Amino acid sequence: MDTKIAVVEKGAITRVGALFVEAFGHTPALLVSDGNTLGIGGFALIQSLEQQGIQVRQCCFAVLPQVYADEHSIERVRLSLAQDASIAVALGSGTLNDITKRASFEVDRPYMVVATAPSVDGYTSYGAAVSIKGFKQTLPCNAPTAVVADTDILCCAPMPMIGAGFGDCMAKFTAGSDWIVADQLALQPIREDIWKMVQTPLRKVYAEHKDIANRGHRSVGLLFDALSASGFAMQVMHDSRPASGAEHLISHIWEMEHLEMDGLPVSHGFKVAVGTLAMSFLYEMLPRMDFSTIMHKPVESWEERKESIEQAFFFAPALLDQILPIAKSKFLSGDALKTRRKAILRALPNILRRCSVQLPPFRELRQAMAEVSCPLTYADINTTKENFLHAIRAAQMIRNRYTLLDLLYEAGFLEEALKAFDQNIF
Ligand SMILES: [Zn+2]
Repeated sequence: MDTKIAVVEKGAITRVGALFVEAFGHTPALLVSDGNTLGIGGFALIQSLEQQGIQVRQCCFAVLPQVYADEHSIERVRLSLAQDASIAVALGSGTLNDITKRASFEVDRPYMVVATAPSVDGYTSYGAAVSIKGFKQTLPCNAPTAVVADTDILCCAPMPMIGAGFGDCMAKFTAGSDWIVADQLALQPIREDIWKMVQTPLRKVYAEHKDIANRGHRSVGLLFDALSASGFAMQVMHDSRPASGAEHLISHIWEMEHLEMDGLPVSHGFKVAVGTLAMSFLYEMLPRMDFSTIMHKPVESWEERKESIEQAFFFAPALLDQILPIAKSKFLSGDALKTRRKAILRALPNILRRCSVQLPPFRELRQAMAEVSCPLTYADINTTKENFLHAIRAAQMIRNRYTLLDLLYEAGFLEEALKAFDQNIF
């Protein structure tokens, strides 16, 4: 693992200087922050570094317009790093961490992050979720060498950021179910050690949701630990499978569409929260679908499929060059599709049995997410029912990660399943 130091505790901000020296020696530091995060922990952090004799330069983004993880922000930090041999210390949450992570990688240096909110699991993951020329992607780069989170600061984070982290954490329920599906179809076996790293802390966080809603120190720390554990699992596996399933693919579509609310991008955790509830709902419907007709369900030709994909991404035709080859590589037809449908039929009883253990009931999960200020449906993230259904369909088209959406599409049940959204609380 790239991450050698992970400290989550009350008052941790005062230990940043000592931890920096432990990780990097007496190298100068570049503090990467924005106007908000600088006010939250900047003074204590700089003091802690200077007490260790570390020289500190700053790269501070404005509060407005809100900083975005794109090629321009990354270049700004990279150019600042290139001025000397500084090691970056990101003080912030997902966006500032992703910018700093990628910029450090581009100049071949390690970095440290001091988290200001338990808002995302990307602190400890090895890639950076950034948008290059408008296309959301995970660019390769190393995970931070040191991760520090002061629970005094985490507990004071705005409630929507705690809700976002809770949503990103609850996503591991449906991501786990998607991994069970891939495991049962012998497409990607579950690694038990990695599974436990993610799923055990997830359950602790779920059980403590009321205390998280009340900003309890210990439980907010548990939420940060669970999010960190997801990042560590991805580092060990070199794959985001343990932490990300169809709920994240749905959020990627909204990221490509630059979904905004009140003029600001909707947070990763909020998009993922709505995606998680959508997938949880589809999983709950699965036992009620009659799969006995699976071998007689209509099939699409590649030409029809290609046309649907072109229509789905009408909003960004430039993305089709990247999307179509992936969609083609996972498109099954003829005997290959028949074989897959037979495999789905055989695997279904085990998928249903394992997922019924894996997932909390939809309504119970929804209630817990409501208590921790997560958005629950499309209207809460400023979109429409039509766009919501479009995002679910499009999510199945974009990546090679096998999820329940792929199973439903290949089985010929996806449209039927989506119709059910019309007749319920969504
Ligand atoms: Zn996530």
